[in-house]
Amino acid sequence: MEVVVSGIRSTGNLHLGNYFGALRNFVKMQHESRCFFFIADYHSLTTHPTPSDLKYSVKQVLTEYLACGIDPEASTIYVQSDLPQTAELYLLLNMNAYVGELERCTSFKDKIRQQPDNVNAGLLTYPTLMAADILIHKATKVPVGKDQEQHLEMARTFANRFNRLYSTETFPEPHAFNFGSSLVKVPGLDGSGKMGKSEGEGNAVFLSDEDAVIRKKIMRAVSDSGPTESGQPKSDAVQNLFTLMGLVSDKSTIEHFDESYNNCTIRYGDMKKQLAEDMIKFISPVREEINRIGADTKLLERVMNEGKEKATESANKTLREVRSIIGFRSLY
Ligand code: AMP
Repeated sequence: MEVVVSGIRSTGNLHLGNYFGALRNFVKMQHESRCFFFIADYHSLTTHPTPSDLKYSVKQVLTEYLACGIDPEASTIYVQSDLPQTAELYLLLNMNAYVGELERCTSFKDKIRQQPDNVNAGLLTYPTLMAADILIHKATKVPVGKDQEQHLEMARTFANRFNRLYSTETFPEPHAFNFGSSLVKVPGLDGSGKMGKSEGEGNAVFLSDEDAVIRKKIMRAVSDSGPTESGQPKSDAVQNLFTLMGLVSDKSTIEHFDESYNNCTIRYGDMKKQLAEDMIKFISPVREEINRIGADTKLLERVMNEGKEKATESANKTLREVRSIIGFRSLY
């Protein structure tokens, strides 16, 4: 059976980018593969959260995983820091990860721009930690959004490099995966780039947002001054609105606004109102589940404990093999 691993950083609430890029696939895959889904709290330390923020975020991400339909009976859900074996594999992989290749990584360059006063080694070695998360379970499929494509390429490099160095076939090659075949990039509401937690207030719609908040955010989304001739290409900002509509609205609704764009009668206010209502229809049942599950502390505790146990068994098996190949004493 194919092994699947994926995670989401615990840096707050989950947004539509996390859902359509990763989570939606988690839910679909859990009954046909051996799935490990984790909450990436080691990774979240690159931005130095306070202990109480960190605790809140871990609980929130776990709650949102469950609210979206991840079934803890079918898959293993665990907290990354509950599996310190990952940190050991991260250290071992770092010995064969070269500073030059890590510095060339697009996400590292983005982070340098976003947080110039906090360019820590954790940011530089983010891809090795991600490779350790994947390789610790010998996963071959990794459901992620388009922004993670390069990280997956690096995970393959580190896996192959280890195999070559020790003349083994320990690690299979992991590949990014999406059910719709091409990887997804959900745009943000600010007219540029992608939806993301660190892209600024109002850029992201969260699964836990109240209806009024969703309406406000969508109505404020960037558009343009409107088409002036038929067949005019859409600006990035307007294309983003259509892309978001493609995720939550009916085909006939999208066709209607596409047609009115093409014949220059479109009113962005009407389009945004419709988009907001369709988003609310999609998000409000999830939000209700988040509120219900979030209050069930016992359930959350049980899922974390069971997940830790199952993930540990899988990680120990890999590390036993890796330590023996390297020449370390047996430990696990
Ligand atoms: P992060 O929030 O950066 O930890 O990302 C967790 C998962 O969500 C990864 O698989 C990302 O590829 C995915 N993701 C985050 N933002 C987006 C986005 N705007 N579009 C598509 N996928 C995304």
